[in-house]
Amino acid sequence: MMRSDPATPRAWANALVRMWGPRFPVDVQQIALEYSKRFDDPVLRIAEAPLPNFEGALAPLSKRGGWAILYNPNIRSAGRINYTLGHEWGHYLCHRHQAPAGFECGEADVLGGSRQQEREADLFASYLLMPLDDFRAQVGNQRMSVDLLKHCADRYEVSLTAAALKWLESTPLYAAVVVATNGFVLWCRRSAAATRARIFFPSGMELPNCSLAAERSGLVPQEGKDIPPGVWCSRPTREVVIFADYYEMTISLLVFEDLGILPDGWEEEEAGDVFDRFTR
Ligand SMILES: [Zn+2]
Repeated sequence: MMRSDPATPRAWANALVRMWGPRFPVDVQQIALEYSKRFDDPVLRIAEAPLPNFEGALAPLSKRGGWAILYNPNIRSAGRINYTLGHEWGHYLCHRHQAPAGFECGEADVLGGSRQQEREADLFASYLLMPLDDFRAQVGNQRMSVDLLKHCADRYEVSLTAAALKWLESTPLYAAVVVATNGFVLWCRRSAAATRARIFFPSGMELPNCSLAAERSGLVPQEGKDIPPGVWCSRPTREVVIFADYYEMTISLLVFEDLGILPDGWEEEEAGDVFDRFTR
């Protein structure tokens, strides 16, 4: 690695965004092919690989001394292909020297992976495709809604799930994203505020009766709905639900508005936490 290379996935992504300017959606293919020319082992190919249970890969081209980024063209949402390319490009920048055999990533790795390198590639993709300042400018002071989330997903060419997670990261609200399938929680993520308040919905939990996600009615309010205390938790809950990304999957965006927001300065404190996570 060159001495001047950024040290963290987030710093890498921010440096590339500064270099390419705020043009959305970000053209990951072009950036990867052009930027990597400065290295001895550039990305030489970006190609389709329609294999089952496969989302993307970073593969060494041993004869030519470079790398290929592969992606599954059969992924259902176009946004996820873009995110996958960003994820593999993140592995290239951050991890290729530690992994000469490259990476092969399934769906669980690309969004919500648990291993550190998968989380780092994910973080890189998120910051490259959805810079925080621009994301905040899109949302402003608006309440989250189905339309607003779709606007963000379209602008950055990412999945609704990826846009929802970015919203969580960007907001001072007490908020959570709960992804469920067949009526049971698969996973939950929280905003910084909700993490401090220990708001959590464990995987395997049954979706509460009377939540929008459990009702699965055809008439989902675009603007979301106020859910009374005792449904999601003991607090009144604003719920926006999306049935779009995957078959039989629901994504609930929950906001606990009665708790207010975190005071200014919360991000500096969070940045310290992130730094700790990646240096431990
Ligand atoms: Zn990966």
